[in-house]
Amino acid sequence: MSNDLLMRAMVLDKARQPLRAAELPDPEPGPGQVLITVHACGVCRTDLHIFEGDLPLIHQPLTLGHQIVGEVIEGATSELPAGTRVGVSWIGGTDGTCPFCLRHEENLCDNPTFTGYTINGGYAEYALVRSDFVFPLPGTLDNTHIAPLLCAGIIGFRSLRVAGTQPGERVGLFGFGASASQAIEVLRHWNCDVFVSTRGENHRKQAESLGAKWVGAENDKPPVPLDRAITFAPSGAVVVSALSSLRKGGIVAINAIHLDQMPAFDYDKLLWGERQIRSVANMTRQDARDYLQLAAEINIKPQVNIFPLDQANQALQAVKNETANGPCVILP
Ligand SMILES: [Zn+2]
Ligand SMILES: [Zn+2]
Repeated sequence: MSNDLLMRAMVLDKARQPLRAAELPDPEPGPGQVLITVHACGVCRTDLHIFEGDLPLIHQPLTLGHQIVGEVIEGATSELPAGTRVGVSWIGGTDGTCPFCLRHEENLCDNPTFTGYTINGGYAEYALVRSDFVFPLPGTLDNTHIAPLLCAGIIGFRSLRVAGTQPGERVGLFGFGASASQAIEVLRHWNCDVFVSTRGENHRKQAESLGAKWVGAENDKPPVPLDRAITFAPSGAVVVSALSSLRKGGIVAINAIHLDQMPAFDYDKLLWGERQIRSVANMTRQDARDYLQLAAEINIKPQVNIFPLDQANQALQAVKNETANGPCVILP
């Protein structure tokens, strides 16, 4: 492949302006990079936050998309031979040298690269990625079904870890989108009792069908004190609601890169008793490997909605309006 070839991509020029169909030069891999042909790219809520300007646009035009399933076609190595099927996620690279990387907390790296945000992502025919930040994929799931695992699934899994979840515990999920619908499958595998508070009849039905012990509306309180709670809505009020459902010593993990704001709350009643609120920032490669292995073992297979590449705008709107039943996946 040479640089005079063009690839199709959907690019963002400016926040809140529809993505534009573009033809870009095929990227050429440099040292430590591989070029992959994109077979599927999941649409994440973070894509929507970038699109809407909740996260500032760092360079433009930007190709969104960080749940990429692809195949190595250039820059192959002995560990990653040509034709290897790989996944690419939000964490596109770290410096490996900052104090956080040295503490094995690469999710907190001071100089991170984020796929589909600080570098171009997968709403395109090809993507250029760091070869040490791709994940060879287990053979059991097809491209479309594995794509939504790559951010929503991994970060949902990390949230369960950040919340300190132990097998058999009572766990609340506040909000029930792509991430929560995968987290519940892990929780059921761990024999946890799952309590789901969410708006939208569809989401409540889905939670029931996936084995929730109790399902309530957005502002309903689970009937028992929870050991752990994960919030998925970009809303501080939901975090406080989750906090008010915890037993002493329980933890709320916030699975959201952006929150509207945290309302004031009563420390004596809600946080006292060694309750904790923790944010969940990005992911480590180990989280990704562990989750992808577990997802293959327990056969997590989200119900997906397919959009061709030129309908990426419609896919973003479906995520925004919650009109899709399950995650949206773009096929170039
Ligand atoms: Zn670092
Ligand atoms: Zn994401």
